[in-house]
Order: sequence, then C-alpha cells, then structure tokens
Amino acid sequence: MQTKIKPITPETLSEAKNIILEGGVVAMPTETVYGLGGNAFDDGAVQRIFEVKGRPNDNPLIAHVHSGYDISRIIDYDPPYAKKLREAFLPGPLTLVYPSTGKVSPYVSCGLNTLAVRVPAHAGAQAFLKEVDIPIVAPSANLSKHVSPTSAKHVFEDFDGKIPLILDGGECVGGIESTVCDVTGEVPVILRPGLITREMIAEVVGDCKEDKPDLTKAEKVKSPGVLYKHYSPRCKTMLFLADELEKALQAIADNAGLKIGVLCEEEKVTVLESLAVRVFSLGDTETEMASRLYKLLRDAEKECDLLIAIEPKKQDGVMIGVLNRLRKACTSKDVRH
Ligand code: AMP
Ligand code: MG
Repeated sequence: MQTKIKPITPETLSEAKNIILEGGVVAMPTETVYGLGGNAFDDGAVQRIFEVKGRPNDNPLIAHVHSGYDISRIIDYDPPYAKKLREAFLPGPLTLVYPSTGKVSPYVSCGLNTLAVRVPAHAGAQAFLKEVDIPIVAPSANLSKHVSPTSAKHVFEDFDGKIPLILDGGECVGGIESTVCDVTGEVPVILRPGLITREMIAEVVGDCKEDKPDLTKAEKVKSPGVLYKHYSPRCKTMLFLADELEKALQAIADNAGLKIGVLCEEEKVTVLESLAVRVFSLGDTETEMASRLYKLLRDAEKECDLLIAIEPKKQDGVMIGVLNRLRKACTSKDVRH
C-alpha cells in the first residue's frame, strides 16, 4: 500500500471520508499529537487500529467528535460539572471519560463500561470530523511504545506502507497528549496529566482529584494506558534529576565512545555545549517544553546512541504532564513493556 501525505482540502477530506466509511484508517492532525483515525462504530476498523499500531488490547481508545456532535448518542450520563468543563475547555486538549451507552464498538473501550470522548481544537481535525460526522477513534499515530508524532513526517516514519492517507495539518502546537479526566464520579479525576491541569479544572468546578495508580497492583488501575512503557526513542536513554548535573556530566565522561545527546532545559545548555555532545534544548517555558519534547526525542534517536535527559527544574502545572512523558520515555522501571 502506498502512503500519501496530503494537505487538508475539500478533495482530500472527501477521500479521507471514503476510506473511513470503507473501514480503513486515516492519520489526522490534532493540536496535541497526530492521531490514527477509524470509525468508532466499526469493529473491523477499531481492530485494525490496534493491529497496525501493535497496541495492547487492554489499552482503550479515545473517540473524537466535532464541536457540533451530539454526544448523548454515545454517552449515558453527563454530570452537570462535565458540562462546565466542556464550556471552559472544549474544543481543546481535554478528554472526558463518561459512562458509555455501549453504542460504539466494544473494542473501543476494551471491555470497560466507560467511553473517553475528545473534541480537538485543530481546524483540520474539526474539518475532518465534520466531514465524516461520526465518532472517530484516534490513538496517537505512532507504533506502540514509540515516541508520539507531532508532524505528518513522524507518522510517515512509523506507518509508511501500512495506511493509505495522512492528512497534513502542520506541526502540532500542544505537543503532549490530552489530559484524560474521568467524569463518572462526584468529582473529576485526572487519569493522565496534560496541558489542561488539575488547578485549571478545579478552578472551574471547585475540585479535581488526581489518580495516582499503584503500578504494582495492575488490576486496580482505572486507565490501563498509564501502565505501559511509552514514548520511547530508539536509542539508549538515561534520566537525571534537575539537580543532578554533576552526575550527568560523569555519565557523559563514562560513555565517551558513544554518540551522546543531552536533552535539557535552555538554562543548562551553555554548560553542556562546551562538551562533545549534541544538545537538545527543551526551551524555557512549560508550553515550549511540551511542544518540543516529542520532536526532540525523535531527532535524538536518529542522531545518537545514548540520550541523557536531565529533568527541568519546574515540576508543577503543565510540567506534570511533560515529566510524566519524559520519565516514561527515558526510564522503564515502573511500567510494563
Ligand atoms: P492515546 O490514544 O494513545 O493517547 O491513549 C489514550 C489514553 O486514554 C490511554 O491512556 C487510555 O488508558 C485512556 N483511555 C481511553 N479510554 C478510556 C476509558 N474508557 N477509561 C479510562 N481511560 C481511558
Ligand atoms: Mg499513545
């Protein structure tokens, strides 16, 4: 199969719609990362997505809809506080997990009685979702465990020859996946941190909890995706804390025979640039760090044998999501492979 990358035009949207209605998959841009989209009502299409990504079959998918879509078709109960969250943050990088009506394919939620729904803000994603006017399941368009894609080129690297069409909507500005927030209980519970933070949600609805699963007790985890090793570059990695620069410098010296890359925040760049290493700067601000992380991990795996990452100093707000991804990418201790 030839994989085409095409800009989003009325013609390519209609081509994408035909592929979707025939049970195929199409990659689409969103403001967070690119997604691998298929018809959420079609068992075959949903299974094909798991197959093509090599995704474990207990890691549920998010259904994406356009802003005019009536979600009561697919969700069973909509607590009043969820409406407030939609009004405050959607369209945008927030996924809400509701009780499901069970109308979408059972493969979408991997046997859970809930459904994760997201309304992306990206204009190209909205155009595509309006064109098809059905919920589109769209996990990140990367091979399972690999770094998530923030450009059409990244999608092509992982799926050349495996999918027919990538809709090119430019580089993703958000850069890390949506915040996943459970709205099935009394108060919202964050299952995966992202650009919409716990504080932002609590400000709108008064309270918001964070699910911190005990990863040694897998059966109690609400959002199975959090268990897996994720986002990993295909080179060796080491991770140091923000105040462990000395240790990182020692690791550079100890691995002098390798092509070394160092990923760190901008303020550490000057110290490292004098050494024989390639420096990948995450930038200064939390939004810069979120939007650059995956691109830099993909650049690093192409150029280096060993990537040494040093955590940024700021660790709250949006950085909770950035660090969650960075740690899963550069360590493998507490997650399933
Ligand atoms: P991805 O599409 O690759 O960004 O991954 C989707 C994320 O959403 C994973 O972390 C899943 O565990 C989570 N998710 C999807 N559906 C549900 C659901 N019904 N309940 C809880 N988490 C979900
Ligand atoms: Mg993913």
